[in-house]
Amino acid sequence: MERVVLFNTMGRRLQDFKPIKEGEVGMYSCGPTVYGRAHIGNMRAYVFADTLKRVLLYAGYNVKHVMNITDVGHLTSDADDGEDKLAKAARENHETAWEISKRWAEQFSKDTASLNVLPVSIACKATEHIADQIALVKTLEEKGYTYRTSDGIYFDTAKFPQYADFAHLDIEGLQAGIRVDMSEKRNKTDFALWKFSKPTEKRDMEWDSPWGVGFPGWHIECSAMSMKYLGKTFDIHTGGIDHVTIHHTNEIAQSECATGQRFVNYWLHCEFLTMSNQEKMSKSLGNVVNLDTLREYGIKPLAFRYLCLNAHYRKQLLYSKEILMGANNAYNKWCNFMENLKKENPKQLPLNELSTEAVKYLEEFKQGVFNNLNTPQALATMWNLIHDKNINNDEKYTLLMDFDKVFGLTEVNAEPEVQMEIPAEVLDLLDQRNRFRAEKNWAQADAARDAIKNLGYVIIDTKEGAKVQKI
Ligand code: AMP
Ligand code: ZN
Repeated sequence: MERVVLFNTMGRRLQDFKPIKEGEVGMYSCGPTVYGRAHIGNMRAYVFADTLKRVLLYAGYNVKHVMNITDVGHLTSDADDGEDKLAKAARENHETAWEISKRWAEQFSKDTASLNVLPVSIACKATEHIADQIALVKTLEEKGYTYRTSDGIYFDTAKFPQYADFAHLDIEGLQAGIRVDMSEKRNKTDFALWKFSKPTEKRDMEWDSPWGVGFPGWHIECSAMSMKYLGKTFDIHTGGIDHVTIHHTNEIAQSECATGQRFVNYWLHCEFLTMSNQEKMSKSLGNVVNLDTLREYGIKPLAFRYLCLNAHYRKQLLYSKEILMGANNAYNKWCNFMENLKKENPKQLPLNELSTEAVKYLEEFKQGVFNNLNTPQALATMWNLIHDKNINNDEKYTLLMDFDKVFGLTEVNAEPEVQMEIPAEVLDLLDQRNRFRAEKNWAQADAARDAIKNLGYVIIDTKEGAKVQKI
């Protein structure tokens, strides 16, 4: 295993990465909210998580990567009120929330695949883990961290004295700074764990719970699913920088209060993709661009990946059409160079057979990527190598193919995945579950899913449909 240094938001410092289990990494990334098409700002966050995973794989680790799909609607405001974004999109499109979330989750898989984002080990949907979320809220209730209001069950942040530490929050300032609608909340920072459906409304997505019919709060799914698949304490959690102050702060509070243990050892956050006028790209600001917009400009999605790699993940990435065109030119140059090189039929050598001059490039590349993912430096190394007349084609090819394990810039034609042997009983249950879901028979579908789980398999939703994988 190579030495990897990472910037930990927890404590705001560079740290040597030390996994809990030798050679293994458990990593969780906050995934998309599937009420609409993900924009390239969101994509930056997933290219970043993918680059981190590739760097860890390159360093010799096995990585178990879990990502959630938020297919339960978020409320439009941070104060746990406002309209549910998914319900709003469903109403506007005359579809159900289930149809909307399915469509955009599939689109998300397509978009990330065209950016060469490696498939995650487990993609877990919030709607398929309602029981886990309820169980976590129950634990918090039993331990005395919750209270009930007329609209839901809330987490009492005053009972977690370290609440402000992670994000360096100024609670006093927050309390004084009014404008946060308190309604029946005891503290401004308290947040909903479970929300009740309003007696007057019939929601597409609602579930029974010990507290009444409703739906989970904003943050509980990430705690419930990450701990389910990675354990009570795991190695790495990623997300965009906007998640630090509320979402991840709340995840830490509810997880650590429930388990009495540290939740995550390393927190990594990527900065925003911003527009030339300094505002972040965001759906609510109406300034979004997606991968199809880039295609219309004649720009390949992988040129956007190149753009992401060419900026450090902790720095804002300025977006404009011109900047993107610049990245596209550089990316095309790289593609052309690789294509011409391949025409020479170069040999891919074992790395330990490289000359001293070539090894210098390898060392420099590693210095870059293992130093908190300094991909701009690693790209500069790559260009210097390309221009170096003293390195022969075999060595260049060997090194460039090796670097691409981290960069992921080579266009790959998706090959059909090899399905491992799955017991027929499990496949039969999967089939039943698909049918129940198509019939919107959620109770039976959940029962089939639980039976699959009891047989030691977990369902993963992929772009080709639901599959099962050994737990
Ligand atoms: P959402 O679907 O809104 O939950 O966002 C998905 C991910 O994209 C989160 O990790 C956000 O932090 C991240 N994100 C949202 N907007 C941007 C942006 N403009 N630049 C980079 N990351 C973003
Ligand atoms: Zn999350």
